[in-house]
Amino acid sequence: MIEYRNVHKSYGAVHVLNGINLTINRQEVVCIIGPSGSGKSTLLRCINGLENYQSGEIIFDGVRVDGSERALSQVRGEVAMVFQRFNLFPHRTVLENVTEGPIYVKGERPGPAREYGMELLKQVGMDHKAHSYPQDLSGGQQQRVAIARALAMRPRAILFDEPTSALDPELVGDVLKVMRELANQGMTMVVVTHEIAFAREVADRVVFIDGGVVTEEGPARQVLTNPSHPRTREFLQRVL
Ligand code: ATP
Ligand code: MG
Repeated sequence: MIEYRNVHKSYGAVHVLNGINLTINRQEVVCIIGPSGSGKSTLLRCINGLENYQSGEIIFDGVRVDGSERALSQVRGEVAMVFQRFNLFPHRTVLENVTEGPIYVKGERPGPAREYGMELLKQVGMDHKAHSYPQDLSGGQQQRVAIARALAMRPRAILFDEPTSALDPELVGDVLKVMRELANQGMTMVVVTHEIAFAREVADRVVFIDGGVVTEEGPARQVLTNPSHPRTREFLQRVL
């Protein structure tokens, strides 16, 4: 569904992606781990054109993501992103945050959009806060609303960039639970995370990135418990 072919990206003289080759299949959950600065966020951001890349290709569902308007609007309509910071609209209620995209970007009718929005809020355990404002929610609650907002666009894949790393530890579990349920429903997910236990349990595949290349990838159990590359071993010793 998503394919990177020898993707290179640099910021000026800084080479950030050094020939990424990676395939993400439909309904697969892929966790991406790696040291700070290794290019994980950049890798995600290149899929939906939040960053451009200099060479190689990224193909999403047969469409080459090449910076053209046509490719971008197609990919952005089908791939949602959830960030470390929740970025909810502060002056909109929880429900309005969820329905804004469907109504104003996709042109859905407000009635059905609100109905579906409530359904999604229920799914993430936030329907009781539909009419609250983001500032009145905990970080974990805001993140669950952000996930409902992503789902409201009816995406075919969701990219998560460290969705729990800005949260107080006691709030992490609720967000991971929502993500685990999404995975069980067959959503295609690419998750940059430091939650090794989550990766071990939920990921079909774990990809270790170091210095802008995929150093190691394989089934979660294999990469996380029996890594073959010394850099992966070293990294896991530090985070576990
Ligand atoms: P972290 O785990 O800390 O989030 P990461 O693996 O997500 O790290 P990236 O954010 O992809 O790493 O950054 C990779 C490299 O690119 C870093 O050296 C970073 O300083 C650099 N970089 C990222 N964004 C920019 C930018 N807009 N301009 C210049 N350099 C950047
Ligand atoms: Mg990052």
